[in-house]
Amino acid sequence: MAHRLAISKIEDITHDVRQFTFEKPAGFAFTPGQAAEVGVDRDGWRDAGHPFTFTSLPEWDELQFTIKIYPEHDGLTEQIGTLGVGDSFIVGDPWGTIEYKGRGTFIAAGAGVTPFIAILRMLRDRGELSGHRLIFANKTEADIILRDEFDAMPGLEVVYVLSQQDRGGFEHGRIDKAMLERLIGNTNQHFYVCGPDGMVESINDALKQMGADPDGLVFEE
Ligand SMILES: Cc1cc2nc3c(=O)[nH]c(=O)nc-3n(C[C@H](O)[C@H](O)[C@H](O)COP(=O)(O)OP(=O)(O)OC[C@H]3O[C@@H](n4cnc5c(N)ncnc54)[C@H](O)[C@@H]3O)c2cc1C
Repeated sequence: MAHRLAISKIEDITHDVRQFTFEKPAGFAFTPGQAAEVGVDRDGWRDAGHPFTFTSLPEWDELQFTIKIYPEHDGLTEQIGTLGVGDSFIVGDPWGTIEYKGRGTFIAAGAGVTPFIAILRMLRDRGELSGHRLIFANKTEADIILRDEFDAMPGLEVVYVLSQQDRGGFEHGRIDKAMLERLIGNTNQHFYVCGPDGMVESINDALKQMGADPDGLVFEE
């Protein structure tokens, strides 16, 4: 069932990523890591939804999405970028295959980190973050979503990878097998991978070659 939800708050997270908050409809249930089809309540955009991931937690009174705006695409997110408080999204039922299965490493590129925002917030609130790691790839330091929040998560080890900047304290380049071999000592753990299709495929291939159990890989299918 689709819900028409009015935006109650909009916050700039980076130069091109915004967080949108809505009151949660009664009984609306989802699992951290799940997404929903989101359209805009404007002519021509109600049924033109794309998937976006809930970055709020199921027990919150609010729903939240964290959305990268592409004004140059002449598409859905360009519309979303022009919305203000009081405008509405059309939000469908939750779905998705990224679900927490146990201790491990989260590997994300750009807005691909959104399912891990909800899962890491859940583990933080349960006090169960210790032994988890986030490897988070972006073009530049300015593109990193919610860096302060990740850095403050107790027990989470975070490695930031920048493809277009080479600076101290960051890994430089693209996440490839050589980088993974350097960063990951033990493949006997879960791996959660989310980002552009090509990136997910190449990282999953590299992890399997390194001995990771294919059943321990969690990604959007
Ligand atoms: C399960 C799932 C969950 C997701 N969750 C989130 C999330 O929480 N947050 C988030 O920000 N994203 C998320 N995404 C990605 C999101 O759905 C798309 O990034 C977004 O819909 C793209 O919007 P757009 O404005 O480019 O619109 P589109 O309709 O995709 O693009 C409009 C037009 O732009 C042009 N275009 C498209 N791509 C390019 C390109 N690379 N270069 C140049 N032109 C291009 C094409 O002409 C296209 O027709 C998720 C995706 C999936 C599959």
